Amino acid sequence: MNGKTVHIKNYGCQMNKLDTALVSSALCEAGFSPAGSEKEADVVLINTCSVRQHAEERVFSHLGHLKHIKKSRPGLVVGVIGCMAQRLGDKLLEHEAVDIVCGPAQIPQITKLVTETLQEKKETIAVTEKIRQRSSESQTQALERFESAYGIEDKQIPGQAFVRAMRGCNNFCTYCIVPFVRGPETSRAPAAIIEQIKRLAGEGVKLVTLLGQRVNSYKYRSGEKTYCLADLLEMASEVDGIEWLRFVTSYPCEEFFDDILQAMADLPKACNYLHIPAQSGSDKILRAMNRRYSAGEYLGLLGKARAVVPGIAIAGDFMVGFPGETEEDFEGTVELVKKAKYKNCFIFKYSPRPGTAADKEKKDNVPAEVKKTRNIELLDVQNKISAEMNRKFLNKEVRVLVEGPSKKPHLNRGGSENSPQLVGRTATDYIVVFNGPVSLAGEFVKVKITETSALTLFGELI
Ligand code: SF4
Repeated sequence: MNGKTVHIKNYGCQMNKLDTALVSSALCEAGFSPAGSEKEADVVLINTCSVRQHAEERVFSHLGHLKHIKKSRPGLVVGVIGCMAQRLGDKLLEHEAVDIVCGPAQIPQITKLVTETLQEKKETIAVTEKIRQRSSESQTQALERFESAYGIEDKQIPGQAFVRAMRGCNNFCTYCIVPFVRGPETSRAPAAIIEQIKRLAGEGVKLVTLLGQRVNSYKYRSGEKTYCLADLLEMASEVDGIEWLRFVTSYPCEEFFDDILQAMADLPKACNYLHIPAQSGSDKILRAMNRRYSAGEYLGLLGKARAVVPGIAIAGDFMVGFPGETEEDFEGTVELVKKAKYKNCFIFKYSPRPGTAADKEKKDNVPAEVKKTRNIELLDVQNKISAEMNRKFLNKEVRVLVEGPSKKPHLNRGGSENSPQLVGRTATDYIVVFNGPVSLAGEFVKVKITETSALTLFGELI
């Protein structure tokens, strides 16, 4: 498809960012070139997220906008890929803007779908009716081949790359759509993962983040040996050129936990950073969510992590306003946040996802206003903790992997054309903002911290 241009818009998590990079790589290999914006593109693909209602609403609003563009440019092809494509299937084709629908397990077919739609001017769809069935050998191989097309030109942040360790999830938290759109939990072969990391290292990647919905459950049996995430970290640590290794997201459970913590403590390349969502501090709500731990057990895991990995930075996720959440339940969450001492945490308001157990069996009975108030209150509690923890960095030197120019130039104080405001992160995922040349993107630098806020460390390049 020489001469055709494509623009891909990504919504959602790191897993989606990785899929977007893969799709972009595959289409470039097939002769498409990236369009500067969707106005200039022959094909617009939207990689979608279904985790919250709000995420889907944003996609529909985007599709509404594309519908107007199509009135003046009827040849424009629009595809919806990712979780919404799998969840809504052919209903999406009823939308005036949509020509292609492709689920996450079918992305190896994306080039074929786009080409057919362009050439034959017909709608195309690839989703599965049997999302909870284990993939056939040929489907798995197709996904693996597609995964290995990932090249450095797709990286959105220089020097960094995501590598999938696992697909899908078997946990069925009652609020969560992921098991219904991404299918059963499958761990990739360690050899394939390490091969990919070696290739990325050869292309200049320094930080690899291993991805999985419950990445700490990574388990791959080969002959007599069962590989766990600790083994993967050890194998990846031996790859020359890779300097930092992260993994997200962890589920609070004992299985492999000690091994993973020990690997973090022993391997200098393993970043001391753990993202481990708690979701609630109320045992009643945790049970209703089908989270398989109590608040006390969760805090026990954090205590263990801090004992084995000194200086570990821990991030959490919480959901407020789950059906039946009382003031007392919410107070339990506030207490947990205070005790957990997170570096930061992500807080979401519950929104029912069609097809999940919570949506089928529970009434969304916490008023929107109450969800909003609890969200703000919890954020305020966390911000105070983050601000206090960040202050400890004042006058300290930190090693930072530079991402590139800051997207918030209004924060730029004293920057110049040659030395604009840059943003980077420490190994423990603290955001650091400082002035320096753009050529540092993808490099490690040292920064002396001169000022802190709840979200950011500000400093000077050393
Ligand atoms: S562990 Fe729970 S919240 Fe996470 S993806 Fe699986 S079902 Fe969803």
